[in-house]
Amino acid sequence: MVGLGYVGSCVAATLADRNLNVVGVDIDAQLISELNEGIVRLEEQGLPAMIRRGMESGRLRVTDDFVAVASADVVVVAVGTPVHEGGSLDDTQLRAVCETLSKHIRRGQLYVIKSTVPPGTTRSLVASSLEASGLRAADDFLLAYTPERLAESTALAELGTLPIVVGGIDEHSAAVAAEFWRRSLGVEVTSQEFLEAAEIVKLADNWWIDVNIALANELAKFCSLYGVDVLDVIASANSIPKGDGHVNILRPSVGVGGSCLTKDPWMVWHEAAQRGVDIRTAQVGRLVNEGMPEYSGNLIIDELTALGKAPGSMTVAILGLAFKNNTGDLRSSPVRGVVDVLTKAGVQVRVHDPLVDAAEAEELLGIRPGATVEETVRGADCVAVLALHQQFRDIDFAALPVAESCLLMDGRAYYSKEKIAELRSHGYTYRGVGR
Ligand code: NAD
Repeated sequence: MVGLGYVGSCVAATLADRNLNVVGVDIDAQLISELNEGIVRLEEQGLPAMIRRGMESGRLRVTDDFVAVASADVVVVAVGTPVHEGGSLDDTQLRAVCETLSKHIRRGQLYVIKSTVPPGTTRSLVASSLEASGLRAADDFLLAYTPERLAESTALAELGTLPIVVGGIDEHSAAVAAEFWRRSLGVEVTSQEFLEAAEIVKLADNWWIDVNIALANELAKFCSLYGVDVLDVIASANSIPKGDGHVNILRPSVGVGGSCLTKDPWMVWHEAAQRGVDIRTAQVGRLVNEGMPEYSGNLIIDELTALGKAPGSMTVAILGLAFKNNTGDLRSSPVRGVVDVLTKAGVQVRVHDPLVDAAEAEELLGIRPGATVEETVRGADCVAVLALHQQFRDIDFAALPVAESCLLMDGRAYYSKEKIAELRSHGYTYRGVGR
């Protein structure tokens, strides 16, 4: 497994858990030494235990020495594939890893690319870089693309259930890759006739999710005009059958973050634009979702103003800094945009998240996180729950030392009607996105 970030760690640990012998390779020497000491950076449910189990059993070992690659039958690659401003692929990691792999590649190996890439990247960049070894794709080594579609916070469960999509540089590569995933993970595998189709599947999934959330976010704004709860509307709107399933509007929120949804639609947009086609939905979805942190920050200011408070004397305590519930990942977290709007307006902001690295949060937000919920919310005019981690589910709001008539801003907690009534009975004013 080459690249031990979110995807690579989860895949490596899962394969080792399924009794395969796995070597994880990463250029980050610090990461490797931490893993060898039993330290797992990632706050993913079940992952630290699974990694430790794999390492203790000897089925999983990690190294920064690529020599290990030569002894593998299958080499799975999951390095980062960010985009530049404008959506073009930043292929630095992918290019570098292929160059290094070309020095260790061996006849008969199967190479499987998992990183999200623009269509054609596996056939052009990856194949040609590996062929610098003198070996030929399809003739001497097998090459396939199988997108990773797991979502952080549910990654390990999804690795055992999500169907896998495979595209090969030739039919044999696709068949062998499909068999590898079928046997190792025991999941359904579907093969695409073309390598590029498998690459597009991943982009299509994230494009759909981002546009769907953008619809939910705009529906939320629309419902707010009428004082209607958007979740009630979505529940009923989703009840009609359509196509092979139902209408399935997702949920609005303070914003879309993470390393995938924020870049993959831009990748689509850029690649199409390069070929003279204007893909509008990808762009519009992004723009709508990118505007949500500002919308949510202003919602807080407006609500507090309506409660008779002036921005210069408001204190807002944000609970949950990660980009979604139950993860410690701060990458492209919408919380940053909310904090920017609030601080620009002169609002005092405090933050807390038990899952994120405090130093990383301070660097991103310019605010040192509070150590506890109580310390963070003391005297606050607003408690903004922007990621509802498991640790926040049992907060006793009645006992929190907040200011009188405190605003509870629900960024993605989706509190039930009963919970909202309970909050109100304790003196809170409740507000959510579209609620
Ligand atoms: P990440 O940034 O967490 O991890 C990338 C890892 O690759 C890092 O540990 C880095 O040190 C390592 N790396 C970089 N260059 C290397 C090299 N030359 N040799 C060896 N290792 C190298 O990225 P991630 O979130 O795991 O994403 C990996 C890919 O999977 C991306 O293409 C992403 O779009 C895609 N993806 C991510 C998710 C997700 O939820 N994070 C989900 C599905 C797909």
